[in-house]
Amino acid sequence: MYTIDDLNQSLAAYLPEDQRSKIHAAYEFGAQAHEGQTRLNGEPYITHPLQVASILAEMRMDADSIAAAILHDVIEDTGTAKEDLAKLFGQDVADLVDGVSKITQISFDTREEAQAEYFRKMLLAMSQDLRVILIKLADRLHNMRTIEYLKVKKRHRIARETLDIYAPIAQRLGMHQTRLELEELGFAALHPLRHGVLQKVMRKYSGNRKDIIQKIDQMLRDRLDERGVKYRIEGREKNLYSLYKKMKEKQLSFQEVYDVYGFRIIVDSIDTCYRTLGIVHNTLKPIPAKFKDYIAIPKENGYQSLHTALFSTYGVPVEIQIRTEEMHRLAEAGIAAHWLYKTKDSDHGSYNHQRARGWLSNLIEIQQQTVDSGEFLDNMRVDLFPDEVYVFTPKGKILALPRGATPVDFAYAVHSDVGNRCVAARIDRSLTALSTPLKNGSTVEIITAPSASPNPAWLNFVVTSRARSHIRHFLKHLNRDKGIELGARMLEGALAQLPVNKKLADIDDARKIGLVKEYGLESFDDVLEQVGVGNRIPQLVAKHLTDEIGVIEAPKSRHQFAFHKSIARWIGLNRSKPAPLAIKGTEGLVVSYARCCRPIPGDPIRGFVTKGKGIVIHTDSCPNVADYKKHPEQEIRVEWDEAIDAQFQVDIKIEAVEQRGVLAKTAAAISEAEANIVNVDMGDADRRYAVSYFTIEVQDRVHLAQVMRRLKALKEVHKISRRKG
Ligand code: MN
Repeated sequence: MYTIDDLNQSLAAYLPEDQRSKIHAAYEFGAQAHEGQTRLNGEPYITHPLQVASILAEMRMDADSIAAAILHDVIEDTGTAKEDLAKLFGQDVADLVDGVSKITQISFDTREEAQAEYFRKMLLAMSQDLRVILIKLADRLHNMRTIEYLKVKKRHRIARETLDIYAPIAQRLGMHQTRLELEELGFAALHPLRHGVLQKVMRKYSGNRKDIIQKIDQMLRDRLDERGVKYRIEGREKNLYSLYKKMKEKQLSFQEVYDVYGFRIIVDSIDTCYRTLGIVHNTLKPIPAKFKDYIAIPKENGYQSLHTALFSTYGVPVEIQIRTEEMHRLAEAGIAAHWLYKTKDSDHGSYNHQRARGWLSNLIEIQQQTVDSGEFLDNMRVDLFPDEVYVFTPKGKILALPRGATPVDFAYAVHSDVGNRCVAARIDRSLTALSTPLKNGSTVEIITAPSASPNPAWLNFVVTSRARSHIRHFLKHLNRDKGIELGARMLEGALAQLPVNKKLADIDDARKIGLVKEYGLESFDDVLEQVGVGNRIPQLVAKHLTDEIGVIEAPKSRHQFAFHKSIARWIGLNRSKPAPLAIKGTEGLVVSYARCCRPIPGDPIRGFVTKGKGIVIHTDSCPNVADYKKHPEQEIRVEWDEAIDAQFQVDIKIEAVEQRGVLAKTAAAISEAEANIVNVDMGDADRRYAVSYFTIEVQDRVHLAQVMRRLKALKEVHKISRRKG
């Protein structure tokens, strides 16, 4: 049984006393926390964390990692609080244990390759400190070493997960040794029979081929010795799982896959690597296109070597890898090589250290290289995938979304219907605002309602273009439907004003289709929508539909507007082609002036297409304008014409001393200013002044100002104001 004393022995090889005593404290805490728990093999539970720690000690990991490894199951299995760990062993240890626990809580259960890739990325993204992943890999490695105690079903699940997730992660981190062992154990647990057969066949083959291998080995040694190269040669063990995968994927026989001899030549420098390559190519004929220079162009995980393949005289190819000692160490241990090197002569190792860090920087795509070697550990705290976040659906499917994505983005990623109907979200089972940015590893559940529809406010926080375009699309359609509905009502109103007094339903389809074609549209709904959103004037459309090209009786004030371009185009003035619209009828536009604010020329104005009323003009400052904010599509830009020859009604309020004859004097003053009085109302007298309301007709603001100046000149008049709204 593995004990703390065994661990202590490995630790003594590289850690100082004070750090080892901290680890010992972690052991005592962990042993107590797991007290009474046993593993399936009957041993006390603490033997498992101790052996996980020992795997990390072999990698020469730092004291915090070792302590965290010993404590890695206490949050999950003993209910110890993270804060307590922080108090006792420091924040770093607590964070590491917490990180491992979070990963442990997630179980992967799908066979889709794309999902596996997301899952690997999610695990890497969740372990913001790469040491978390190293501890998790060690944990998994030890669990795999003792997997025979699990029941078949669980064994298969764990083995599958190991092969699909953890072995590739080890590979990604360049940890060749760890990866090989995980694959070997995973393969044996998942397919014991196939593993057994392959193993037997391989033993037989390698026995048979021993002579040939020895001959090639000797030939290579002789030539390298002749040229005075310092080297060592390793025969390459074939990995059963990769053999099996190759056979399966490429439909090859064992012999076809296996019948390749592999050698690895390890030399002292990069320069010697290339020299050795030359010697090898002079010894046996190289196979064209098989040479790969991973020294000049390292693999994604930092791997470096020269690869070549040669025709051997025995009818089978020979594969050769050439690399330096340092490349070899990195290739075997990957990210863990950093700690391994640390135990060696540190002056000599500084180059290696830089290489390790460079390799890591390469891996995590850190642009700015850190020079201080003390920053290496800081580099372990990295965002491996800064642009993405990985979350689960309630059924366990993983979705990758851009960083900052919200439940709404998630909902649209699941399905546009889910997005369009979403009303709330649960993240890890608690209700959360739809705008909350998602975190790695969360499970997101979208609550929908059949009657719900997208909210325009979502556009403020969604980050995916998919969500954005669906919301926009929906809103556009929503507006279209509303526009069509409004347009139909407006057109009915306009038809009712015509002498023929027809309803929309009375008009035959041929005429409608004719109009659709004339307007260059696709359906009569398009016509209605254009009316509804104010792009066509209902009266004109009504006349076209009924062939009533005549002048509609205009409302009281028939005034001309200099319309905005779109209006001009709309009524056909700006058309380059012969306008199909009846220009004659344009003066019959229904334009009215809001009674609430009574705009007069010179006032800043706004026009709104209003059902049944055509265009209604308000002053810019009219409080009723706010009502149209919800329907910006109803607004039409309008401007006063320069030359207007007409009278406009305006309301004024006059406060004057209550005295006989004042009303007559006021009326006279208005008349003198050449304004017509349309109406007078007497308001309640306040204590000192009599209030009267006049509706008068003026030409424009200048005219109104003249009227008011006249009134102000009266000594009885205290105050005059224009009434708006
Ligand atoms: Mn564990």
